[in-house]
Amino acid sequence: MTVPRPNLSWHERLYLPAVMGGLAVTLRRFSGTLGALVLGRRSKRVTMFDPEEKWEVPPGYRGAPTLVKDEDGREKCVSCQLCEFICPPRAIRIVPGEIPPDAPNAKIEKAPKEFSIDMIRCIYCGMCEEVCPEEAIFLLKDYAVTGLSRAQMVHDKARLYELGGVMPRPIKKWAAK
Ligand code: SF4
Ligand code: SF4
Repeated sequence: MTVPRPNLSWHERLYLPAVMGGLAVTLRRFSGTLGALVLGRRSKRVTMFDPEEKWEVPPGYRGAPTLVKDEDGREKCVSCQLCEFICPPRAIRIVPGEIPPDAPNAKIEKAPKEFSIDMIRCIYCGMCEEVCPEEAIFLLKDYAVTGLSRAQMVHDKARLYELGGVMPRPIKKWAAK
């Protein structure tokens, strides 16, 4: 498809009216801010003090996925790898680990030896949270999970638990039968 070039009039070809129009918007905003600062005039603030101020996100907002522990600090994840299987961009990597038979939680059998989520790949779809049978993975409300390098954006197990924290839930898989 060919998009025809518009025929500009002579004053449009000067570009000065457009430049002056842009400057007028800047000056209008500047005088409004100056009036608010110097004279205490009320004006509608269009910026916020990030990261101290955050947007209120709606219920059901899907932020960064994290791992959570139960009230007693135990890992809920049992390394079933369903989330790894379902994740559309293949952002999750799990290495299952075996729980020693003499451990107090031995009836669970498995816990993740390694668990990482590549947040550069993640598309925040929430399917990992939905598929998890143990309620071990939850999406944060925080939308500003950042890093200074690609390596920092791959959240390892320690980072995922640090972000997720404790999530008290009714599932009591640790209780004796
Ligand atoms: S939110 Fe979606 S893309 Fe991100 S880790 Fe979970 S399943 Fe994968
Ligand atoms: S987070 Fe949930 S779905 Fe993923 S491996 Fe652990 S128990 Fe399975």
